[in-house]
Amino acid sequence: MAALARANAALAAESGSLQLREALEDLATHYRRLMRETHRLIRHGDRTEAELNTANTKLQQLSAELDYKARHDTLTGSLNRGAVFELARRYLTQAPLSLIMLDIDFFKRINDTYGHPAGDAVIRELVERLSAVLGDTGHIGRVGGEEFTILLPDTALQAAAHIAERIRANVANHAFDCLPQHPVTASFGISWSTPGTPFEHAYSRADAALYQAKKQGRNQVVC
Ligand code: GH3
Ligand code: MG
Ligand code: MG
Repeated sequence: MAALARANAALAAESGSLQLREALEDLATHYRRLMRETHRLIRHGDRTEAELNTANTKLQQLSAELDYKARHDTLTGSLNRGAVFELARRYLTQAPLSLIMLDIDFFKRINDTYGHPAGDAVIRELVERLSAVLGDTGHIGRVGGEEFTILLPDTALQAAAHIAERIRANVANHAFDCLPQHPVTASFGISWSTPGTPFEHAYSRADAALYQAKKQGRNQVVC
């Protein structure tokens, strides 16, 4: 600013070319320095912007990861209790819903005989089998230790019963890779609800059907 003021003053005074020349040279020097500094600041700004973009991308990844973890069960990768209940509530506002509850039979014996890690492996393999039978249809949620809920939106009770029966047979008729020496079976309870049914109602009817399946001897499907 001082160099500029001097140059302006020299130009206004028109008092000899030497003074004018010195003032202009001074101005040019300062101007070059100013340009260098400006470029440096721009580069610094670009770098900061790039760093901010990287941090922002990382933040979005972390947020998606957190969201996934909050909704999924760590042992099996299926939806957790909260997430599957929330999904069921959402479906029930729009469409009929078949809700399957399943529970591994005498699971405590597996833990007691072979230990908890073996029990965990059975739970994981069960979910693999559920996924294999269900494919794209339905959502699996782990609602308790060895209890699962399967949501089949827009599915008739008969179709849901057929799917549950296929899962039951798959579990009962093929030895588990992780525990081939021990037969594993599961019991199933199913409810079918019209849109607008409170979730608690749909859930408790499936639970009552599951209780019935257990009482009648396990390894069976009750609607
Ligand atoms: P039922 O046929 O009546 O269902 O008998 P059950 O033995 O399967 O039922 P119960 O509810 O008595 O036992 C469930 C057991 O599951 C008890 C608990 O220690 C075990 N469990 C709960 N969560 C886990 C888990 O994450 N891993 C393992 N390995 N066991 C679990
Ligand atoms: Mg059980
Ligand atoms: Mg249970």
